Amino acid sequence: MTVIRQEDFIQSVADAFQFISFYHPADYIRDLYAAYQREESPAAKDAMAQILVNSRMSAEGHRPICQDTGIAIAFIRVGMDVRWDTKMSLEQLVNEGVRRAYTDKDNPLRASMLADPDGKRKSTGDNTPGVTHVELVPGDKVEVIVAAKGGGSENKSKFAMLLPNDSIVDWVLSVVPTMGADWCPPGLLSLGIGGSPEKAMLMAKWAMMEPLNIHELKARGASNRAEELRLEIYEKVNALGIGAQGLGGLSTVLDVKVVDYPTHAASKPVALLPNCAATRHAHFVLDGSGPATIEPPSLDDWPQVAFDTSSSRRVNLDKLTKADVAAWKAGERLLLSGKLLTGRDAAHKRMTEMLARGEKLPVDFTNRFIYYVGPVDAVRDEAVGPAGPTTSSRMDRFVEPMLAQTGLIGMVGKSERGPAATESIRKHKAVYCIAVGGAAYLVSKAIRKSRVLAFADLGMEAVHEFEVKDMPVTVAVDSTGDAVHKSGPAEWRARIGKIPVAVV
Ligand code: SF4
Repeated sequence: MTVIRQEDFIQSVADAFQFISFYHPADYIRDLYAAYQREESPAAKDAMAQILVNSRMSAEGHRPICQDTGIAIAFIRVGMDVRWDTKMSLEQLVNEGVRRAYTDKDNPLRASMLADPDGKRKSTGDNTPGVTHVELVPGDKVEVIVAAKGGGSENKSKFAMLLPNDSIVDWVLSVVPTMGADWCPPGLLSLGIGGSPEKAMLMAKWAMMEPLNIHELKARGASNRAEELRLEIYEKVNALGIGAQGLGGLSTVLDVKVVDYPTHAASKPVALLPNCAATRHAHFVLDGSGPATIEPPSLDDWPQVAFDTSSSRRVNLDKLTKADVAAWKAGERLLLSGKLLTGRDAAHKRMTEMLARGEKLPVDFTNRFIYYVGPVDAVRDEAVGPAGPTTSSRMDRFVEPMLAQTGLIGMVGKSERGPAATESIRKHKAVYCIAVGGAAYLVSKAIRKSRVLAFADLGMEAVHEFEVKDMPVTVAVDSTGDAVHKSGPAEWRARIGKIPVAVV
C-alpha cells in the first residue's frame, strides 16, 4: 500500500505553486508565439510581445509573471489504496503548502485572499485558504493539479441555465463581448456543459488545465459534439475581433475547452470560465517515494521576441499639464518617466469618502497620474516586485470625484472603462492609459524607486509614489473620449468579416 507522508505532500504543493508563479506552461508560450507571428493588428502584436518578453524574464528571474499571483486552487485525485501518514485533513495539507509557497523568502507571492468577504475584507496574510477539490479514484497514487487564478479572469466567470434547445454558441457569443478585456486575453475559454450547476462549473475549471491542442483538433476534425463546439467557438470568438488585451486583433483565444456530462431532461447548465495571459497550472503525481519534482522547462522554449518602443512618445510625468495630455490620441504608445502615484480599490474608497466629508487628502494629485496597481513585495535589489495593472473598471465609480476634486489628470490601469468613467475623462479633458495585463515583471523593471505616501495600513493597496523610467503604456481613452477598446475590436471584427458589426 502507498503511504503519502505529510511533509512530502506539503512540500510538493509549495514547490508547485512557486513553479507556476514564474513558469508559463510551455504549450501556452508555443501557441501565443504562433498567434503573435500571425497577428496583423499592431497594438495586439505589441501587447503579445510584452507578454512573451515578460514570460521569459519571469522564467529567468524566478519572479511572478503577474502581480496577481492568484487564488490557489488544487484538484486532487486520491487513489483508493493510498494511506496518509498525517493527522491533518487534505484541505489543511494543501493550505500549509500554499502558505509555504506564498511566504517564500526568495520569491514571495502576493497574498490576495481576504477573510470576511462581505464584511471587513481583511487579508489572511499568506494567501490561505486555497480551494481544494478532491476525487477518490481507483489506484495507489495521488494526482495533483494546482492552479493560480487571478481575480481579473475569475471575475468574468459566467454561468447560465439554458433551455434544452438554446444554442450554446449563441450564448457564448453574447457573453464574451460583455467580458471586455478584464480577463487579459489572449487566453482560453473553458466550458462545462451538463450535470448540475456546480458540476458544470467544476468541469469547466478542471478542463482549463488540459494541454492546448486546438490546432491538432482542427487538423484531424471533430469526432463528437464537444469537439465540434470547441472548433466553432474558437473560430467565432476570434472573429469577434477583441484581440490581445481587447485592443482589436486576430487572436482573442488560443484554445477552447469543452467537457460535458449527462444532465436533466429539462436543463442545459453551461459554465464558461476564461483563463488569462497569466495561465498558470502544474500537474504532479505522488507515489509514496518522496516529494514530487516538476521538471523545469528549457529556456529554449521561449522565443526571442523584441519589444520595439522606437515609435513611442516619451513623456515626463513631472512636467505634465492638461494641455500636454490633450494632444495625445487614443492608440498612441507612450513611455512614461518621472513620478507616478498608485492606488486601487481600498485607497480610492477611502479617498472619495474623505472628499465627500470635505477633508483634505494626504496626497496632492494636481497634474499627477495614478496607477491602479497592487504590487508583489520587493526582494533583493528590486524597487518593487512585479507590478502590472489591475482592472480599471473597478475604479470607474471613483473617476468623477477624483478628476473633479483632486486635480488628477491621468490614470493607468488595464482594460476598458465604462461609459460614465469615459464621459468623466472627456468632460475633464483627462486621459486613461493601459499597461499590459500579464506583463507585470516587465513593467516592474521600469520602476526605479518606490515609497509609501499614505494609507500604509492598506499594505499592497497603500498609495505609493513610484519613480518610473520608460514605462510602456498605450492611450486607451483620450481627452476627447475616443476609446481604443471600442474602436479596435469593431475595426478587427469588420476586417475578419465573419460576424456582422452592430451599429450603435
Ligand atoms: S494576467 Fe490579468 S487577469 Fe490574469 S492574473 Fe494577471 S492581471 Fe489578473
